[in-house]
Amino acid sequence: RAKESGRDRAVLFEQRFHEDVEERRALEVALRTAIENEELRLRYAPVVDLATENIVGFEALVRWHNPDRGWISPVTFVPVAEECGLIRLIGDWVLRTACADATQWLRPIPVAVNISPLQWDESLIGNLQSVLAETRLSPERLELEVTESIFLIDTAECFALAKQIDALGIGLVLDDFGTGFSSLSCLGRTPFKSIKIDQSFIRSAVGGDAGSSAIIHGTVTMARALEIEITAEGIETEADLLLAKELGCTRAQGFYFAKPMDAEAVRQAIS
Ligand code: C2E
Ligand code: MG
Ligand code: MG
Ligand code: MG
Repeated sequence: RAKESGRDRAVLFEQRFHEDVEERRALEVALRTAIENEELRLRYAPVVDLATENIVGFEALVRWHNPDRGWISPVTFVPVAEECGLIRLIGDWVLRTACADATQWLRPIPVAVNISPLQWDESLIGNLQSVLAETRLSPERLELEVTESIFLIDTAECFALAKQIDALGIGLVLDDFGTGFSSLSCLGRTPFKSIKIDQSFIRSAVGGDAGSSAIIHGTVTMARALEIEITAEGIETEADLLLAKELGCTRAQGFYFAKPMDAEAVRQAIS
C-alpha cells in the first residue's frame, strides 16, 4: 500500500513536471513575439530623497501584457528570457524606451534601468552609446542597476566594464544589496553611485531583527564614507519610513510613496 502511494506520487510528480516544462515552453514561444507585438510595458517607481522628500529619480520596471495570459511579472518572465536567450533583446528595448521616456520629463532627473547579469559584457557599451545618441538623453541622467552576481563570472572584466560605464558618465547602482554575497570589498573598488538595500532586509529590520538592522547600519556607515547614496527599497508604511531614516538611509522607494506608474503619470508627477 505504501509502495503504491509512493508510485502514485511519482506519477503525479512526473505529470506536474511535464506540465511545467510545457508551460515554460509555451511562455517562451509567446515571449519571442512579445516585442514585435508591442506587449511590453514600462512602469516607473519614484525614488525619494529622505531629507527633502523630493522625487530624485525613477526606476523603470518592465511588465508583459499578453492578450491570452494578462499581466505577467518580470519575476516570472525575466528568468525565462535569460534562459532562452531573449534577455538582450528585451533589455535593449527597456533601455531604449526608458531613455526616450526620460527625455519627456520636465525636470532632468535620472532614470534607472535594471540590467541582467547576462547583458553585462563588452557589447553593453556599444548599446549604451547608440541608445544615448539616438534618444539624446544626457548620460548623467541614466543609471544602471546591477546585482552582485555580475562579479561572479570574471571579476577583473567586471571592474573594467564598470570603469568604462563610469567614464561614459552613466551612474552605476548596486541593487538588491543584502540578498547575495554583499561583498563589501567590491563596493570600494567599483564606482557605485548608490546602493539599494533589498526590501527583505528592510522587512526583517522592521520586524525587530537586530542582525538586519546592524548590517544596514554598517552598510550605511561605509557608504557614507565612500559618498555613496543608500536607498531603502520596499517602504510600505510610516514605520518602514521611520526605520529607514533612523538607520541613516538617504533615499527610499516603495508603495508608501507610489505604486509603479506609467509614463504619462510620471510626466504629471514631476511637472
Ligand atoms: P528590483 O529591481 O529590486 O525592483 C523592485 C521590485 O520591488 C519591483 O517589483 C517593485 O514593484 C517592488 N516594490 C517596490 N516597492 C515595493 C513595496 O513597497 N512593496 C512591495 N511588496 N514591493 C515593492 P517588480 O516590478 O515586480 O520587479 C521585480 C524584479 O524584476 C526587479 O527587482 C528586477 O530584479 C526585475 N526587473 C524588473 N524590470 C526589469 C528589467 O527591465 N530588466 C531586468 N533585467 N530585470 C527587471
Ligand atoms: Mg532594481
Ligand atoms: Mg531592488
Ligand atoms: Mg529586488
